Amino acid sequence: MRVLIISDVHANLVALEAVLRAAPPVDEIWNLGDTVGYGPRPVACLDRLGDDAVEHSLVGNHDLAAIGQLDLTEFNPWARAAAMWTSNQLSSPQRERLAVLPATVVATGVTLAHGSPRDPIWEYVADRETASANFAHFETAWCFVGHTHVARIDWRRDTGRPSRVRRFRPGDVVDVSQGRWLLNPGSVGQPRDGDPRA
Ligand code: ZN
Repeated sequence: MRVLIISDVHANLVALEAVLRAAPPVDEIWNLGDTVGYGPRPVACLDRLGDDAVEHSLVGNHDLAAIGQLDLTEFNPWARAAAMWTSNQLSSPQRERLAVLPATVVATGVTLAHGSPRDPIWEYVADRETASANFAHFETAWCFVGHTHVARIDWRRDTGRPSRVRRFRPGDVVDVSQGRWLLNPGSVGQPRDGDPRA
């Protein structure tokens, strides 16, 4: 099975369309959350990634903020302003759909979380210590997270050892058949590694 895994679209429809165009044919799309917030096209992005198009959809902190389920004082001023604006754009059905999305999903052999398996809404897996600690919080071979907006791969060959980090470069092929893996596909709509490519 071939799966396209995306995260942190952040209401950037142009980027979302570019990523979908650049992807080869896939059997399923999995969306790790933060579909809205920051960007200008929340309604269109949610429509494009509706239940018919996406097999697994998670909720992220910005999604929760946009429907009033997260305290905005935790947000920086720009994120807060965007959340309040986004909130006014969404239709009732869109709000209801966001409200029932899970923060984590465990499917066949894989765990999905927006931030981390330990703290799916808030934790950033941005350093080796956090990554290593999180291996105890999922049981599958693979776990995919988003939230940091930076593509990253952490892995360990066997349990009991700290994980190792591997920088991901576009075009890399990674054999994930051995060991356990914590993988972040980066952000569709707001990449924070300075690389805008799909
Ligand atoms: Zn995000």
